Amino acid sequence: MNIKMETLNLSNLTIDIIRKDIKNMHLAVYPPNGRIRLSAPKNTDNEMMRLFAISKISWIKKHIKNFETQPRETPREFISGESYYLLGKRYLLKVIEHNEVPKVVLKHKTLELYVRPDTSSEKREAIIEEWYRNQLKALVPKLIEKWEKVIGVQSNAYGIKKMRTKWGTCNTTAKRIWLNLELAKKPIECIEFIIAHELVHLLERSHNDRFVSYMNEFMPKWRFYREELNNLPFRYVNWKY
Ligand SMILES: [Zn+2]
Repeated sequence: MNIKMETLNLSNLTIDIIRKDIKNMHLAVYPPNGRIRLSAPKNTDNEMMRLFAISKISWIKKHIKNFETQPRETPREFISGESYYLLGKRYLLKVIEHNEVPKVVLKHKTLELYVRPDTSSEKREAIIEEWYRNQLKALVPKLIEKWEKVIGVQSNAYGIKKMRTKWGTCNTTAKRIWLNLELAKKPIECIEFIIAHELVHLLERSHNDRFVSYMNEFMPKWRFYREELNNLPFRYVNWKY
């Protein structure tokens, strides 16, 4: 598809314009910084787009404000004293230098990171990410099994990866579920919500009324968990559908 990129400036907002094969104009505001994008049918003239954007200006500003006020994790340095979450519970990081293979040990209130002296923060991050990944791997298969029974579907595989804008995805053809590594930090019911959501996609691909009624049936409190996910401190994701 041939997409031409333009921008529109409106009362100190910059809006990316994308012209494509669609019938109506629509606007979206994206996390984390509130990037604004206007999609428009190919031949829409500039004045039409400007008027459309003006009519939506309070909506745009409201969304940008939402992103700005949303609690967010502070940048990590992987040093002692920082907070790390596992399954919704907070732990204080304690970095301990030793001359053996690095490891992470979870204590009652602390997360002990054993590293060799002079280990870079990138390397510390990689060790902690690997540990988070393993925590999810230990948990997810039985949760998938549990929700497959409830929903009456069967997935073929799952994977964990870093995703910037989604908590999970489902490839309905391959019946493969992908989960965001960040979920390891969230309460277990939020992880279950994402798993249930992705499994329901095996019954219904899109987020239509049918999809919502399945969610209501299988997980009546799903809206509460979604709210919880969106309100908790997050790193990149503001998840909506
Ligand atoms: Zn979905």
